Amino acid sequence: MGRALFISIAGHGHINPTIGIVRELMNRGEKVTYIAGEEFRNKVEEIGAEFIGHKNFNMANRVGGSLSLISDKVSLDTIMKSDFSNMILDVIETFKEIIEAVFNSKDRFDYIVYDSTFIFGVEIGRVLNIPAISSTTTFGINETILKKVVEKLSLGGLMGVLNNPSILDFARYLEESFHMKFPKTLGEVVRQGTINFVYTSRYFQPYNESFDESYKFIGPSIIDRKEAIEFNINNPENKKVIYISLGTIFNNSLEFYENCFKAFGDMNVQVIMSVGKKVDIKTFKDIPSNFEVFNYVPQLEVLKNTDIFITHGGMNSTNEGLYYDIPLILIPQFADQPIVAKRVAGLGAGVVIEKSEVTPEKLKQAVENILSNDSFKTGSKKLGKSLRDAGGYKRGTDEILNLKKVEVLL
Ligand code: UDP
Repeated sequence: MGRALFISIAGHGHINPTIGIVRELMNRGEKVTYIAGEEFRNKVEEIGAEFIGHKNFNMANRVGGSLSLISDKVSLDTIMKSDFSNMILDVIETFKEIIEAVFNSKDRFDYIVYDSTFIFGVEIGRVLNIPAISSTTTFGINETILKKVVEKLSLGGLMGVLNNPSILDFARYLEESFHMKFPKTLGEVVRQGTINFVYTSRYFQPYNESFDESYKFIGPSIIDRKEAIEFNINNPENKKVIYISLGTIFNNSLEFYENCFKAFGDMNVQVIMSVGKKVDIKTFKDIPSNFEVFNYVPQLEVLKNTDIFITHGGMNSTNEGLYYDIPLILIPQFADQPIVAKRVAGLGAGVVIEKSEVTPEKLKQAVENILSNDSFKTGSKKLGKSLRDAGGYKRGTDEILNLKKVEVLL
């Protein structure tokens, strides 16, 4: 029996793809300890893994604002004057809590699987002399991608952040207490693990030819979710079904939902709309009769009977839609979503509408375009096959256990 240590500082979208791997590792006799925000205790304990909670820190929510600034190409100065500096202090506090939990643990781990936003994964592996496996829930990042991002968004100066006095203090603390080295360059921040999981297919990954074999594109983990109760779409006339969701974070634009009512209310389609838990559905005065509106739906069930998915281009939603061969209309909101959307459109599986340019007419046109043009379905099928063939959590587990065998041989 081997002992695995999983570490995450981020939200559901980062933990979900690892759950299938954790379960499969345990089914094959491994013991798993998971360090993550306290809010994920139930999710981890209910599959039987040991859980160590750190103070809640939802990277996605906390960093989201800052990332949206960066992707809008504002200057480093503006970013630093925003909430960014406070966010850094929160991140340091969380990193410290996790690192102390690892080094103070009485357990001896055989390998570590860390979310790529936890930038000390490789360094912990080095100090403990065990393999460190990264888990990346967006597209994979290597030096080629990094160079492009730095150039495109003028992020070169961002490393100035590392001269922040709180960060320098933290670096000293890590060195003195745990012999850990603090990253000095952007390259070291995104340093590669022994192997690197990316939850999409190599075909979907931009600049895929630049990724070496240490990157394992294992595709999305489509597992039975606890909430995945049967969901019947009320569609007696067998109309084409449009599913609309902007995910779970940036999803409260009432104007966007009203635009959808105007766009599709008089079309011969059936629409399922998930507006998120922050929107009170009663605020909508005139929901057209061909719409069904929910705060949350079992998305994987809905997608099984969907013809077009209107999405914010979140990595999970995008992979899930394409996994079921569905052409997408992407309206990216922030972070990596513009890049994801561009890649989907580039591979012919959907169309992008900028969020500032959404109108009922544009939405309607996009739907008509996809319904009258088979090439989108061909594009999404090709991507869907690549995602289904990627192997999911079973391959992820094989890759980890193979690594262990190799380690034993060396
Ligand atoms: N989701 C769901 N039902 C909903 C809305 C979202 O099950 O009504 C799930 C969806 O399947 C996906 C996740 O929530 O796995 C959203 O993740 P994504 O990366 O797409 O977007 P985020 O919420 O992180 O912006």
